[in-house]
Amino acid sequence: IFITLEGGDGSGKTTMIQRLAKFMEEEGHPVITTREPGGIEISEKIRSIILDPAHTSMDARTEALLYAAARRQHLVEKVKPAIEQGAIVLCDRFVDSSLVYQGFARGIGIDEVATINRFAVDDWEPDATFYLDIEPELGLARINASRGEGMDRLDMESISFHHKVRDAYLELARKFPERITIVDASPAPEQVEQVLKDLLKKRFIQNFN
Ligand code: C5P
Ligand code: MG
Repeated sequence: IFITLEGGDGSGKTTMIQRLAKFMEEEGHPVITTREPGGIEISEKIRSIILDPAHTSMDARTEALLYAAARRQHLVEKVKPAIEQGAIVLCDRFVDSSLVYQGFARGIGIDEVATINRFAVDDWEPDATFYLDIEPELGLARINASRGEGMDRLDMESISFHHKVRDAYLELARKFPERITIVDASPAPEQVEQVLKDLLKKRFIQNFN
């Protein structure tokens, strides 16, 4: 089972993935957690190229291709083998991120970005995607308050960029309602966690055990 979490910056994807993994492990299911771009050495290296604050001249299509390259390697080297061995894979971001960030917010075009991603992932698609929806202002405030990680290149984006990201995610969720569930990420983490657990149980309980 391949499950992805999507959302804007500060929506809590990373925290929720850890909590959901713990929950599923306790329920006795083999689970791995991973992230994009990254998750394995080659893709983490590509990630650091993409996010390097010095790379202000990076072209939007170059960026989209690097995301797609990181994604392919991560898929064939880590995600696919884990799923073939029967694990549940919980992944922080997948193709939807590129459609939203590169396709829409950066203005390359969703169809164009979908095309290079089809090349990268063939017909691989998540079984379920949870989109953690949050007001960009709130998400960015959370990052500033708690994360304390260094600035990356994308942290320099304007608030309107993040609003575009959100609008595109909501649009995508409306387009693929069977796969993508919108989850309100503004309440306390415990509450969001409970909503996600309930969704997982409802959706996959028959496949568990
Ligand atoms: O998910 P994470 O916060 O680790 O992503 C790192 C940065 O890359 C974020 O600032 C995010 O907005 C950005 N990003 C992007 N395009 C993607 C995926 C992530 O601009 N396809
Ligand atoms: Mg970030």
